[in-house]
Amino acid sequence: MNCIMCDEFKKAENNPFLVYKLETGIVEMAWYQRFKGTALFICSKHVTELYQLPHDFMMKYLEEMALISEAVSKAFNSDKMNYELLSNGVPHLHWHLIPRHDGDSPQKGPIWWVPREEMYSDAVKPTEAELNEMVNKLRHELTIIVNKPESI
Ligand SMILES: [Zn+2]
Repeated sequence: MNCIMCDEFKKAENNPFLVYKLETGIVEMAWYQRFKGTALFICSKHVTELYQLPHDFMMKYLEEMALISEAVSKAFNSDKMNYELLSNGVPHLHWHLIPRHDGDSPQKGPIWWVPREEMYSDAVKPTEAELNEMVNKLRHELTIIVNKPESI
């Protein structure tokens, strides 16, 4: 089976986007950063729907997602968080956790209303140093919120 989200777990140690490992998945900075600080929370199990997870695991996955969203909000000073679990393009559960700021898009609404060419433009790609800074900021907040030593 070919799944790019499952592959993220195999390359975990050498992945510059990797922020943190939690019980039910891994946190990474998203490769698209039109909205600075956007993070992904990739489930450690290859399923496409929340209800396919064992109940206790599902509850833990949701709890960890909420904790990560708090960390993203604090790390990137959001005015509002957006939570998206789509998995249409890649059928493996992964949350998009997006820190939103007042006036960050031409019209109020989901980030996907921004044209694709702008979302994925080279102009909004972080440099290596910017990516590193984002990873460290989010890892720092997660360490406080999850209240355990850094796991990476
Ligand atoms: Zn997968």
